[in-house]
Amino acid sequence: MAIRNVMEMIVRDVLLNNKQELKLTCSCDRCLNDIMAHALNHLPPRYIVNSDHQPYVRVMHEADRDGAINILRVVTQAAIVVSANPRCQEHKVLR
Ligand SMILES: [Zn+2]
Repeated sequence: MAIRNVMEMIVRDVLLNNKQELKLTCSCDRCLNDIMAHALNHLPPRYIVNSDHQPYVRVMHEADRDGAINILRVVTQAAIVVSANPRCQEHKVLR
């Protein structure tokens, strides 16, 4: 079984749950992935081996208020960076 970084799923949840508040200039897959990659580079990974433990690790993270606030702060910063300079711009021009 592969190891997984549950921080990826947490960041995805935070991003999708706060899409409106983050005021994204573009929410295409490319931009969402760029925001996730940017945020994940600034957050500690949480690797797990057994996927059965995943809900447990997530609940632990959601219970940790400071951790949750920090994740939202990092995702917000990533959204600002990507929204200011979306890498999908070429596609937009072509449309
Ligand atoms: Zn985009």
